[in-house]
Amino acid sequence: MCGIFGISGHPEAAAMTHLGLYSLQHRGQESAGIVSTNRAGEVHGIRAMGLVSDQFSPERMLELSGPVALGHTRYSTAGSSTIENAQPAMVRFKGGHIVLAHNGNLTNAPEIRGELEDEGSIFSSTMDSEVIVHRLAKSKALRPEEKLAEALEGVEGAYSLLVMIGTTLVAARDPYGWRPLVMGTINGAVVFASETCALDITGATVVREIQPGEIVAVEPDGTSRTLQRKAASNLHRCVFEYVYFARPDSKVFGGSVDRARRALGRQLAKEHPAPGADFVFSVPDSSNSAALGFSEESGMPLELALIRNHYVGRTFIQPTQSGRDAKVKVKYNAVREILEGKSVVMVDDSIVRGTTTRGLVALVRAAGAREVHMRVSSPPITGPCYYGIDTPDKEQLIAANNSVAEIARKIGVDTLGYISLDGMLQSVPNGPDGFCHACFSGQYPTKPPTAPEKLRLG
Ligand code: SF4
Repeated sequence: MCGIFGISGHPEAAAMTHLGLYSLQHRGQESAGIVSTNRAGEVHGIRAMGLVSDQFSPERMLELSGPVALGHTRYSTAGSSTIENAQPAMVRFKGGHIVLAHNGNLTNAPEIRGELEDEGSIFSSTMDSEVIVHRLAKSKALRPEEKLAEALEGVEGAYSLLVMIGTTLVAARDPYGWRPLVMGTINGAVVFASETCALDITGATVVREIQPGEIVAVEPDGTSRTLQRKAASNLHRCVFEYVYFARPDSKVFGGSVDRARRALGRQLAKEHPAPGADFVFSVPDSSNSAALGFSEESGMPLELALIRNHYVGRTFIQPTQSGRDAKVKVKYNAVREILEGKSVVMVDDSIVRGTTTRGLVALVRAAGAREVHMRVSSPPITGPCYYGIDTPDKEQLIAANNSVAEIARKIGVDTLGYISLDGMLQSVPNGPDGFCHACFSGQYPTKPPTAPEKLRLG
């Protein structure tokens, strides 16, 4: 998963992008990058491993001049976590520069890469997104948006894209609408971002979502052109954006993430009440809204029984198991004064491998909880995601290999209840149709990739 931000027609485009990336940090913490272009088409970029706050010093930001910029926060789903794979990807070709930032995962990238290599293309990274850059460079189409439409022919999978071709900023979303992408405006400049919270921080106002299959090209003078490719007859918006990934102060797919999570929490309380428990608490922060919903529906008080250290990243998006294990205790502590002797409901948005959950339950029990009733605001994750979230190996997914009763025993809780698939889809805005739920249901909306392991090249 990644965060993307782009702006055209603003005198401080790079500074605005820097701000926007702060609000998209939760979508990727492995690397960050900003590339700007001036009116002469000269391009300057900074890409670095690590957090946005660590990488862009005021001195370095001065290098990034011009009215057009785009930025990226990366969490690797395809390609290893190295600086070569940091985005925005930037190449020079005979027509100028191409700069690309991608959120999603291209399921047939290995095949397209093979074809391009057979034709003589030389790749500089192991990223799936680089195939689009090569195809753009080969396109004979005249306008940037036509080049991008041509480059995306036959490309399968999930993509929300921001591309700079010369001084034109182009935004595109795949025909299924897998990943969010919103357009805004500030003082005549046009802004694109993965989530509306990145528009809020810059002072931009939301104009609309980029539609599935739509390509929008914007010039620095504010003129824009739209090209609508064939949209799919049924959308596959990622329901996990509402459950976990997006920030609760954002709107994605036209709906409030906070409202979605509260509705999920209310539905969870209807499906799996915990009569007799003393209070409910969340695994902060991504489950706060769902726990509030559970509390509202059940009438059970909400307590702050787990405290999160905000200076440590999200455990779920650490790329290695050892990193995840060490981080549970570094990241959370339990409040003994609240938990001692109590029967408690712990709400989390999902259980992926179960290791973090097991560690949290142990913390809560060590702080004196008498009974722990776990409630989860998404159904059991039983399969990998091929569309941009890193849950690739079935063997690592606790719910792919264990019944709910077995999971309860393994994570050490008294009872365990997951929201149903129907309950989840009925709860999210603009549901229940038009969402991808493959990792929960096994109903993959496209044919599975022929070589899923190659999606994680390197
Ligand atoms: S498989 Fe799951 S995480 Fe991946 S796009 Fe579909 S709903 Fe989202």
